Amino acid sequence: MAETLTLEQVLSRLAREGELYERLPEGRVRCYACGHRCLILPGQKGICKVRWNEDGRLMVPTGYVAALQLDPIEKKPFFHAYPGARALSFGMLGCDLHCSYCFRGDTPVLTPTGAVAIKAVFDEASEAIVTPDGEIRFPQGVQVITASGAVRRGTKAFSHAYRGPLSVIQPMYLPAIRCTPDHRWLATTDPGGGGVEDVRAADLTPNHFLLVPKPSFGGEGIILDVTDLLKHVTPTFAIPRSLSEQETRGIMEASERGESSRAIGARLGRDPSYIRHVRSKVRRGRWVYEKTHGIMIEEERVRFPNERRPGIPRFLPLDKTFARLLGFYCAEGSVIRSKNRPNSLDLVFSFGHSEEAARKEIKHSLQLLFGVHP
Ligand code: SF4
Repeated sequence: MAETLTLEQVLSRLAREGELYERLPEGRVRCYACGHRCLILPGQKGICKVRWNEDGRLMVPTGYVAALQLDPIEKKPFFHAYPGARALSFGMLGCDLHCSYCFRGDTPVLTPTGAVAIKAVFDEASEAIVTPDGEIRFPQGVQVITASGAVRRGTKAFSHAYRGPLSVIQPMYLPAIRCTPDHRWLATTDPGGGGVEDVRAADLTPNHFLLVPKPSFGGEGIILDVTDLLKHVTPTFAIPRSLSEQETRGIMEASERGESSRAIGARLGRDPSYIRHVRSKVRRGRWVYEKTHGIMIEEERVRFPNERRPGIPRFLPLDKTFARLLGFYCAEGSVIRSKNRPNSLDLVFSFGHSEEAARKEIKHSLQLLFGVHP
């Protein structure tokens, strides 16, 4: 019967002692074939998984190619190198990149308009390449915020089979993220933000601070349009009426029976002209007890119906004052819905006795930005 070999066993036969490494005490080796400069203990592999420490010697791939390709040199990442020439490339197995294959599909990625789950990006992309262990799709029009804060086009989304342990990273104030223990995070233990390094998920501790990307453009120049933010909010308001719904129904039924407005008015203690007015409005569908309405714009200020004039400014520049107010809200703010006034919300900031300066700043900011007097 033919022997069945694992890929690892095949590779171990296609390996010899390498040259680009140094031997270290206690049988360890340091590979310097690439920038990772892996420190590899006896019996362990480097990040690329194809170089390993065997009894204090670094074993490396030899004697095969995994891919061979002849291309126009213009396809290669060279600049002004022999235009029109051909370039022969070959590759072996193993990869030292840290591709983001190692998140679950529900992990959010940051886009300029908010966080989006990787799976949503993947599902929306139609074009696909099926690989032996997954699928690659090519989303259109997706932008993401990179680790440097720059906005870049997202060109590919991967689905990849994985079986093994997951690390759960729980950043303070952010949702938990699950990833493979090998996934690298930019992190530091310096509260001042210095000394950022590349740390495996499995090596993160509660003392680490994580780098979270955010758009690199500043707040200056951003103007929030309140009508745009509130365009989907359509509260339903009660309309005060001097007649109950039952009384109105009674007027309409009496009219149907041929009773005059004078007789109905005399019975209800109302003027006949008022009875005719109610009847006319009911017939035109304009005698309602509640109304649903969106935001109203008056002289570049906005408010909802039933709210006192003048409302708040339609355009709000995201300046330093506003940004600090939002920061205070994240730290100390909350919103409470009133039972008696269902369309009213109370904005509450909670402070201790020693935080008088913050309280004054918030009061001043609310007056300045919204023209309200808390
Ligand atoms: S990733 Fe591989 S090639 Fe790179 S340093 Fe580590 S063992 Fe060497």
